[in-house]
Amino acid sequence: MLYRLLFNLRNLCCAYDGWVWHIIFSIRYYCGIGFKAFMRLLGPVMIIGANLLFFNIIYNYMFHLLPKMSGDNVMLYFTHFLFGFFLLSNIEFNYMGCIFTPPGHPEPCLDPRRYLGLKINHRQRNLVDHYAFNTTLELEPAVNYRWCKHCKCIKPPRTHHDSITGRCILHMDHYCPWMGNCVGKNNYRYFVLFLIYLFLGCVYILMVSYYVVQLVTIERAPNSVALMYLTNAAVLTFTIGLSAGISVLILLVFHTFLVLTNQTTLEFYINWEERREAKEQGYVFKNPFDKGWRKNLIRVFGDCAWYHYMNMSVRDSVPCDYPALPQEYQSRDLESSGRRTLNHTAPSTSQ
Ligand SMILES: [Zn+2]
Repeated sequence: MLYRLLFNLRNLCCAYDGWVWHIIFSIRYYCGIGFKAFMRLLGPVMIIGANLLFFNIIYNYMFHLLPKMSGDNVMLYFTHFLFGFFLLSNIEFNYMGCIFTPPGHPEPCLDPRRYLGLKINHRQRNLVDHYAFNTTLELEPAVNYRWCKHCKCIKPPRTHHDSITGRCILHMDHYCPWMGNCVGKNNYRYFVLFLIYLFLGCVYILMVSYYVVQLVTIERAPNSVALMYLTNAAVLTFTIGLSAGISVLILLVFHTFLVLTNQTTLEFYINWEERREAKEQGYVFKNPFDKGWRKNLIRVFGDCAWYHYMNMSVRDSVPCDYPALPQEYQSRDLESSGRRTLNHTAPSTSQ
């Protein structure tokens, strides 16, 4: 039965080949648009949801857990209050930094011929456009300049086109629905610091709520509405802290590895594949951007003491660590006519 159905479907496809493919591509096209719209809408919903969770935990901490834990000790109350405030302010600062900092985009380049730095006549244009749209300029092994036909720009190495925001992102790591933004060159440090402080916050809130649950259990006070609220608040906070803490810990370990090896999330998968292919062909693949864990760490956080790069501050974005586009590939015809030249993102400033 199933075989006959598939056979008939195949015959139908062959008979109406053009129409069937047209329908399939149309469905795929509109599904793609629907998915992008859904992801764009999901961003604000997830941000509101995350802040509601924060608010819930802050409320439980301030009005249930902290008074119970401190008792009559005012000093203890203020010490915990200040520590909780320190963690919360760092979490929110880095979260907002990640949301509102543009991740970084390459300069648009409206004329693909600029990629080649050529002056061509009209007759050659189609040929050169075709070449420009399909070529890759490899400066070093695995260090490529490419052309993005969507953004009409030159994609420097480590740049990828994000289909959700529809733009090329420098040092693209991933699109984060919790941020409603791409994580890239300009907001990667905020993202990693957000993970670190969120994990510390989860550990702290887990310890506090566990301590309060222990206190309530030991006291064995008679049942009351206040006690019920307190127990519920402690258990709810513990549950949220545990589930968030485990998820954040996995992400934090992964991104610590990426920072120490100078890879983005996308590059991790690309390099994994490259490494596998190299092994099959009998040579060792080396990530061209990996300069050793210490330099890789400095690249993201800056050359300063740990307590400086952990504090709340607006600093320069992660520097470029690839060679600049060679001069001969930059526009000569536009320069000579006095128009704006290709403003490449930055030359090599690797540390
Ligand atoms: Zn693009």
